[in-house]
Amino acid sequence: MKPAPFEYHRPTTVAEAADLLADRDHAELLAGNQSLGIVMANRLATPDHLIDLNAVEDLDYVEERADGDAVAVGAMTTHRTIERSGLLAERLPMLPEAAEQIAGPSVRNRGTLGGSVGEADPAGNYPAALLALDATLELVSADGEREVPVSDYFIAYMFTDLGEDEIIAAARVPTEPFPPDRTGMAFLELKPAAQTWPTVSAASAIRVDDPDATKPVVEEARLALANAADVPLRVEECETAIEGEPLSEETLAAVAEAATAAADPADEMHADREFKCEVAGEYARRSLAASYDRATNGETDTDQL
Ligand SMILES: Cc1cc2nc3c(=O)[nH]c(=O)nc-3n(C[C@H](O)[C@H](O)[C@H](O)COP(=O)(O)OP(=O)(O)OC[C@H]3O[C@@H](n4cnc5c(N)ncnc54)[C@H](O)[C@@H]3O)c2cc1C
Repeated sequence: MKPAPFEYHRPTTVAEAADLLADRDHAELLAGNQSLGIVMANRLATPDHLIDLNAVEDLDYVEERADGDAVAVGAMTTHRTIERSGLLAERLPMLPEAAEQIAGPSVRNRGTLGGSVGEADPAGNYPAALLALDATLELVSADGEREVPVSDYFIAYMFTDLGEDEIIAAARVPTEPFPPDRTGMAFLELKPAAQTWPTVSAASAIRVDDPDATKPVVEEARLALANAADVPLRVEECETAIEGEPLSEETLAAVAEAATAAADPADEMHADREFKCEVAGEYARRSLAASYDRATNGETDTDQL
């Protein structure tokens, strides 16, 4: 099937795109076209106007914000750019690790962070990663700018706080809680096959007190799951289970139990609800163990945990 007819617009600035979105009824934004194209070809979306953001260069960047306490990723930044960003590898390595596991090279070359957050699939890699990292979304419309914490953005299955006339401009991630010399991050996922969406993913970060100590204490932990519920799921019980002491077999067992209990996934063809709950527990455990390992420069033998 071919998409229904539509009028094509190619703005070159964010303001122009926002005006087009405000002035045209039944308009849709186009980013990497890795999801929207399929939906339109099947006529599950039939917009009258398509506003292509690919010529808006101001939305394609990874940069440290002036005060140095945050890194911002523009909405039109591709998975490939995120995967290869030196700044992200140093400050927020969870994001490149999440990007490199999305589909295959052709999807990663075109797909964008803004498209992924706009699509809001609960299995998406960035939604869970940005939730774990306490990110804020910067939104723009013809009426001005607005900020929404990612924790308030995902409301229900593929339903978000994004207004009809709003464009996601960037995701801003605070870096201050996670100094690179005492931090480990991980994005682990179980896939039923190469280049497919994950069964469940686990995004995690850990900051320890002293990476060179014999038993480094977990000062702060973060854990969010993808495809474990109708929305990306932050599991604070997993975080509190390991904070304030060195990671141990006991605290990791509590993590697995808490993640399995918090998961509320739908059945899928290749993975029923019970299996996904089990995977949520196991991957939460593995992800936090990997983050601890990385925070302590691999000095701690987490294989024993
Ligand atoms: C085979 C395959 C496997 C995949 N596997 C994974 C996976 O494992 N993990 C994963 O995370 N993703 C996966 N994806 C999805 C991929 O990440 C897409 O790139 C992404 O979901 C959509 O990004 P896009 O830039 O292509 O957006 P588009 O398809 O162009 O747009 C998607 C939606 O977002 C809206 N949108 C786009 N930009 C904005 C913006 N700036 N502001 C507001 N709304 C906007 C559009 O209007 C549209 O509704 C997979 C895709 C394919 C085809």
